[in-house]
Amino acid sequence: MSKVPFTTKEKLEEIIKEIPTPFHIYDEKGIRETARKLYDAFSWNKGFREYFAVKATPNPYLMEILKEEGCGFDCSSYTELMLSDKVGAKQHDIMFSSNATPDEDFKLAYKLGAIINLDDFTHIDVLDKLTGIPETICCRYNPGGEFKTSEKGNVMDTPKDAKYGMTHEQIIEAYKILKEKGAKHFGMHAFLASNTLTNEYYPVLAGILFRTAVEIKEKTGVQLSFINLSGGVGVPYKPDQPANDIKVIGEGVRKAYEEILVPAGMGDVAIFTELGRYMLAPNGALVAKAIREKHIYKEYIGLDACAANLMRPAIYGAYHHITVMGKENQPCDHKYDITGGLCENCDKFAVDRMLPKIDIGDIIYIHDTGAHGFSMGYNYNGKLRSAEVLLKEDGSFKLIRRAETPKDYFATFDFSDKYSFSK
Ligand SMILES: *Cc1c(COP(=O)(O)O)cnc(C)c1O
Repeated sequence: MSKVPFTTKEKLEEIIKEIPTPFHIYDEKGIRETARKLYDAFSWNKGFREYFAVKATPNPYLMEILKEEGCGFDCSSYTELMLSDKVGAKQHDIMFSSNATPDEDFKLAYKLGAIINLDDFTHIDVLDKLTGIPETICCRYNPGGEFKTSEKGNVMDTPKDAKYGMTHEQIIEAYKILKEKGAKHFGMHAFLASNTLTNEYYPVLAGILFRTAVEIKEKTGVQLSFINLSGGVGVPYKPDQPANDIKVIGEGVRKAYEEILVPAGMGDVAIFTELGRYMLAPNGALVAKAIREKHIYKEYIGLDACAANLMRPAIYGAYHHITVMGKENQPCDHKYDITGGLCENCDKFAVDRMLPKIDIGDIIYIHDTGAHGFSMGYNYNGKLRSAEVLLKEDGSFKLIRRAETPKDYFATFDFSDKYSFSK
């Protein structure tokens, strides 16, 4: 399978005339289609809802699109809660899944009426003292041990080493206590593996959670209203990787639901998801220009974008496919390291990548940056965050976040005459 940009060189040239590179661009059509496919795959479940993981792409314009498609928002911090509130998410439109949670964050989540997902057993007391226990409450589960999708096991993770969630014993005790403290509606949440490329992840996770839900009912009398499968459904970053089939995933969860929950008299449990990457990654790209070349022991192409705009290759060695716009049909007969300008040798979007010959000024399209792309950005080396652009369904485009300027960079020490940069 070859990877094809969701827009054309002509369109990008038109945009670049108004908005200089680098920028992240998002595809409204793709975002809507992805959301609709997800809702279709889980249409068998009456209460199904996707709570988009805001941290993946915290842009209100994109969140508005997702809201129109029926999504709520999963937040993990004060500012993400503010953002969801601004976008018009109300009460149970917001899930609050946070850890090492500051008091202020709990208070705001409570004030907004968000569904609070308790990461730890000790947080029951913390929340009780801060705000009281809300009527609807969720607990995050960590089954410990190792997580495998199957014996072939192309997904393996180690929940026992993860900082999230409550142990089996704790979560059962938690529901008892929460019930005593007046909670009326209960949910359970778990996130056991990330960026999974298999249709088995959600079904296997669902099986674990559904069996635990039955046990909770037997041991505590608490009947869960919802089970949140959280994020973790992955996308094929590499051209030769097979994509997940969300319809098959939805059917796999349904099978586990009908085998485990329905016979236990729990056929009205709503399924929630908190997908970030699956929803947005393929529907965004980082658009940059080749600005420098270098010929030493290796061949280098330097971009006007750097790891501050897309951190995944630098921190995880993550693969992001690259298209040199307009050269799609030329042979990939040049081996390059494609770099940014940070003073860190890990600032490479690609290492030893076979690409067509790149000339200065070529538009470089870096695929699949729509989630955990812009949002992981930072200001190292004084680099400024880029703009974000929305490619609308009708083919027009809109600036949905301007690029930072030096004034933004200096804003936080703008407090004395001596170090005031705003004048
Ligand atoms: C990061 C995160 C998600 C989204 O994960 P993806 O891998 O992007 O799907 C969902 N829920 C929680 C609690 C998270 O921390």
